[in-house]
Amino acid sequence: MKAALFHEFGGPEVLRYESAADPRPGPAEALVRVRACGVNHVELDVRAGISRMPIGLPAVLGLEFAGDVVELGAGAPAALSVGQKVVVPYTLPCLLCQYCQTGRDNLCERRQLHGVTRPGGYAELVTTDARLLLPLPEGLSYSDAAAGQVAFSTAWHVLLTRGRLAPGQTVLIQSAGSGVGSAGIQVAKLAGARVIATSSSGDKLERIRQIGADHALDHTRADFVDVVLGLTDGCGVDVVLQHVGGELFERSLRCLKPDGIAVVVGGHAGEVVPLDIIPLFRRQLQIIGSSRATRREIERILALLADGTFRPVVDRELPLRDAAVAHQLLAERKAVGKLVLVP
Ligand SMILES: [Zn+2]
Repeated sequence: MKAALFHEFGGPEVLRYESAADPRPGPAEALVRVRACGVNHVELDVRAGISRMPIGLPAVLGLEFAGDVVELGAGAPAALSVGQKVVVPYTLPCLLCQYCQTGRDNLCERRQLHGVTRPGGYAELVTTDARLLLPLPEGLSYSDAAAGQVAFSTAWHVLLTRGRLAPGQTVLIQSAGSGVGSAGIQVAKLAGARVIATSSSGDKLERIRQIGADHALDHTRADFVDVVLGLTDGCGVDVVLQHVGGELFERSLRCLKPDGIAVVVGGHAGEVVPLDIIPLFRRQLQIIGSSRATRREIERILALLADGTFRPVVDRELPLRDAAVAHQLLAERKAVGKLVLVP
């Protein structure tokens, strides 16, 4: 098979499109022919060697992908068949631990992740845990499944499960031109919330308005916090989706109303941030982390993608051999929405 893999950590150029041995499915595994694979920002960190996750080399990236079952290992679920169209869940929980047994499988400490602990979807063929495969819903394309799974399930978990966003509330979505951000706008609108979305580029501001944001703001402007407060009658927002980090983190907290919730789900612009503890406790702010989504949430998202409730924003599809180009585009923030690789 062909795969885009890397043998050393470094810039986008370390991604090489090469021939590799065809993987074979082990017990209870399925071999999947990848038809589309979404590109996620965390993959840039994994490739650069700064992800703080243990990565063995050579490595094949690719968290989220969809394709066809081409072979089943012994003991795979009888309901699966060769030729079936499937979505590979991006997180593979153990199904046995206390978290998995109580519906909180996104907390599973024995989970595996494609592209991190086992080879991912930047390849023509991938083996995966057959028990966890989800059928590709009728009406959903491989590309939209690969573009929508992580972004929408992450945004759903951040805004509804962790942020407890309710109808009539106002949410601030930082860097809304990203995959998670553009999905967050749609999740928040479905929840009946008012959306203030931000970006640093004029083109993206227009785009995030089209996606459904009620207000689109440049977060680099000096009076950004004042503008957000002005839009909320001086009160501040109920929830912030904060996946950027850096100096935007502190400014996000200043946009919150008392008892407001900042949900942190990433830190690409700076992982260690200053925090003024005085307003944190006086204004009784809540800063909470969020990571991944539960299996139930992912199933829900796939159904909402299939019936057209959610529309993944796909910037463009690229052939798998151009994986390095995709990483370059993402690093330069030139993509609005998701990039999808097609083997
Ligand atoms: Zn588990």
